Amino acid sequence: MKILVTPTSLCRNEALIKELSARAELILNTTGKPLTEEDLLPLVADIDGYLAGLDTITARVLENAPKLKAISRYGVGYERVDLEAAGRLGIPVTNTPGANTQSVADLAFGLMLAVARKIPAMNADIKAGGWSRGNGKELYRKTLGIIGLGAIGKALALRAKGFSMSVIAYDPYWDAAWADANGVVAGTLTEIAAQADVISLHVPHTPETHHIISRELIASMKDGVILINTSRGGLIDEDAAADFVESGKIYGMGIDAFDTEPPAPHRLYGFDNVIMTPHAGAHTVEAVNNMAAMSVANLFALLEGTGAADRCIVNRKYLSSEKGS
Ligand code: NAD
Repeated sequence: MKILVTPTSLCRNEALIKELSARAELILNTTGKPLTEEDLLPLVADIDGYLAGLDTITARVLENAPKLKAISRYGVGYERVDLEAAGRLGIPVTNTPGANTQSVADLAFGLMLAVARKIPAMNADIKAGGWSRGNGKELYRKTLGIIGLGAIGKALALRAKGFSMSVIAYDPYWDAAWADANGVVAGTLTEIAAQADVISLHVPHTPETHHIISRELIASMKDGVILINTSRGGLIDEDAAADFVESGKIYGMGIDAFDTEPPAPHRLYGFDNVIMTPHAGAHTVEAVNNMAAMSVANLFALLEGTGAADRCIVNRKYLSSEKGS
């Protein structure tokens, strides 16, 4: 059995790679980056399974993998996998829901604090011999707007409650029981823009959520708003955001996810108060271990047809029984 393994942190995990090598022949990603369609085409011809990082898995890639029986995504998002094509070819695709929730929520909250208190700029200044202490601002008792109250949005809301923040959230699939029990108020995007001091995005990137943070929405936000995106590139109109950072309407931004990764140069990224991390939300010891254990278990459950990974299948509606278990 041949398995393609591409998540960069997983490929560096020597113990796990040794364990996997005992179960299958491995092809490892040695580039240190997510793979493109062109990178993947020569690798997939005779693979049976695919433990997938943030690669771009197109219909063309899948059509060139005639033996492929299962794709196990190492992580939550699956926007870069052509789920429909996989389903048509009978290939189930799974993800690892919940495995990195706490880590991403920590990073989102960390970015909120880093922007509000200008921590990276002070760090850079003092290391350059300076001692400048421009005022930041507090998060205490401010209003946090959360767009997408799923696993990570909820985990972030609980952290915000510890800072006595009010939390208003928008999600078309509203979990009223959870929101009521945890003091989170439902709002529309317009209401969030009008009320929130900090807005954090926790939605998948779909045609519906593309540029959900539009020029018009930013224009209607409170002056001095902080924007955090640990979800996916494409959710924010970055040209508009750059204009509003320049004008001072946006106090600062924290960004962990980009359209292309590493990101193409953009004037938004040049501002000191726009803090960036390299899609590192899930990069903690805990999340990496959770994702590794869950994605490996999912892959072998699919390949062996045990049914144990069924709750993690994300392309069920497209799945034909051609090859899948
Ligand atoms: P989740 O599925 O638990 O939550 C997503 C929520 O978004 C759901 O509640 C859903 O109802 C809601 N939603 C869908 N469409 C919406 C819309 N149009 N408007 C508002 N809400 C909408 O997923 P999660 O585990 O909370 O992850 C959220 C996102 O975070 C993922 O989609 C992924 O893109 C991103 N993520 C990033 C990292 C990272 O390393 N930075 C790691 C994991 C996940």
